[in-house]
Amino acid sequence: MQEDTIAAISTPLGEGGIGIVRISGPEALKVSGKIFKSKRAGLKEIKSHRMIYGHVCDRLTGEVVDEALFCYMKAPHSYTREDIVEINCHGGMVPLRKTLELVLAEGVRLAEAGEFSKRAFLNGRLDLAQAESVIDLIRSKTEAGLKLAVSQLKGDLSKKIREIQDKILGILAQVEVNIDFPEDDLEEATGKDIICAGEVLLEQIKSLIKGADAGIIYREGVKAAIVGKPNVGKSSLLNALLREKRAIVTDVPGTTRDVIEEIINIKGIPLRIIDTAGLRETEDLVEKIGMERTREATDRADLVLPVLDATEGLSREDFAVLALAGAKKCLVIVNKIDVQDKKIDMEDLKKLAGGRKIICISAEQGTGLAELEDMIADLLLCGKVDQSDSYMVTNIRHKQALEKAAFHLSEAISSIKGMVPVDIVAIDLREAWEALGEITGMSVTDDLIEKIFKDFCVGK
Ligand code: GDP
Repeated sequence: MQEDTIAAISTPLGEGGIGIVRISGPEALKVSGKIFKSKRAGLKEIKSHRMIYGHVCDRLTGEVVDEALFCYMKAPHSYTREDIVEINCHGGMVPLRKTLELVLAEGVRLAEAGEFSKRAFLNGRLDLAQAESVIDLIRSKTEAGLKLAVSQLKGDLSKKIREIQDKILGILAQVEVNIDFPEDDLEEATGKDIICAGEVLLEQIKSLIKGADAGIIYREGVKAAIVGKPNVGKSSLLNALLREKRAIVTDVPGTTRDVIEEIINIKGIPLRIIDTAGLRETEDLVEKIGMERTREATDRADLVLPVLDATEGLSREDFAVLALAGAKKCLVIVNKIDVQDKKIDMEDLKKLAGGRKIICISAEQGTGLAELEDMIADLLLCGKVDQSDSYMVTNIRHKQALEKAAFHLSEAISSIKGMVPVDIVAIDLREAWEALGEITGMSVTDDLIEKIFKDFCVGK
């Protein structure tokens, strides 16, 4: 348990109905009792997990700062497993900041980013994979992403990992018996059993790795660029997809100009559209700024969606746009197929597309949009997704740990097959176990823990 008491505003800063100041640690109740006054109950009578009505007051001036609700969650039945007090203030910057200041003035430390969750992990309430899922849950962009985060928070992935770890320990025990009696070689029958059990586990790890690419896509989304000449219907396509899917619009900080990122939900995959500001400009982009901006957008994209106009013949610009896609995942879109007078030569286009899939749509009438979404999802997931697996890996750190575990486990298996001394086998088995422990946090360094929780928001 941590010695000190920490506090932070746990709700987003801005105007809202309510805002919460959260305090965690041994002094939480004592300190908050000094700044919160209620006619109904004194500190001693406060029951855990009940809301009390009262006022936040400045002890020095006697001034009332806000009207609030107070909730005490007695350790260990709280998010951090420590005593927690949450003061539900009105959701404005000033009342929240003032309330937090009053708490800090009582000797409480301002919490670092993710420190509540870090304490939940250090105090054993959540393992590392579960703690990481909290931030995934907060940041999920689609229901599919949310579902995966919730299942990881419930501990489905951790359970699966621990099962594999336990079985590795079982194998290790069998191997270690032979280390203790080095004069006996590993019996042939035992060796076969171990190989067999190891191979089953290796398959399970490999299947988790295989699903991870799709899982990471569901969690992080994919950057996509809609590119093409002016007037081919890029904005119309974006709008058609947005209208249907109710996109999430987020500001991307740290860029030289304000970039608005729009996220379209394509069958549960958050498709992050690059350079929508460019797409929304009414003037001819390609003419105005040349191909530079298009090139920038395709460079940053994982998926390129070149749009061509069915009412026009293929032009040099179309060639250039297709060439920009290079080896990236790409789906060629022919728009305006609702128009009678089509000029595009599909045979030429097929040759030009060089094996890339082509889809014909009408952004204006919505024709082909559902098929377009299916094709995008297939292209991104390469058909290897099975979302029914509740313990899908969605995190690159977890995938790397699994790869390390798979490497050591297969080394151990080959060593047994090659009659390598059993102590070498044992080392690899232990390494495999440890690699899996990095996922749940059984075997992680303090630095890694710091790094993981730094990415969280303040107050979580
Ligand atoms: P952008 O410059 O590539 O973003 O193209 P816009 O989306 O602004 O569309 C250019 C013009 O094409 C507009 O007048 C649209 O109404 C028209 N347009 C876009 N999509 C379609 C379509 O599917 N069918 C038809 N007939 N016209 C379209």
